[in-house]
Amino acid sequence: MSLLKAPENTPVWTDESRCKACDMCVSVCPAGVLAMRYDPHSILGTMITVIAPEDCIGCNECELVCPDFAIFVADRKEYKFAKLTDKAKERAKKIAENNYMMLEDA
Ligand code: SF4
Ligand code: SF4
Repeated sequence: MSLLKAPENTPVWTDESRCKACDMCVSVCPAGVLAMRYDPHSILGTMITVIAPEDCIGCNECELVCPDFAIFVADRKEYKFAKLTDKAKERAKKIAENNYMMLEDA
């Protein structure tokens, strides 16, 4: 649950001001929805990014693992999440192999 107001029709969203770029949410996402992008304005040089919201299955793992309360998942009653597909699983694998950074073609 977020202290922020949930944006409409959005499965997962972030608060970039809180993100410490630890990569943990990206590492637990089974659907390749999340990745880090280069960001020269962030302290660690990278920032969390929602790259494939349409593939979010609403498992909540990202929100549970984030130590900084910087990522939020919609309530199941308010958003119809996707089913986990092979394509999404494959993207998650490629992102992990890419040190959790965004893929060039994603
Ligand atoms: S709720 Fe699950 S599928 Fe959606 S972004 Fe978070 S970890 Fe990934
Ligand atoms: S787990 Fe939280 S702090 Fe770490 S990268 Fe994800 S959103 Fe940022």
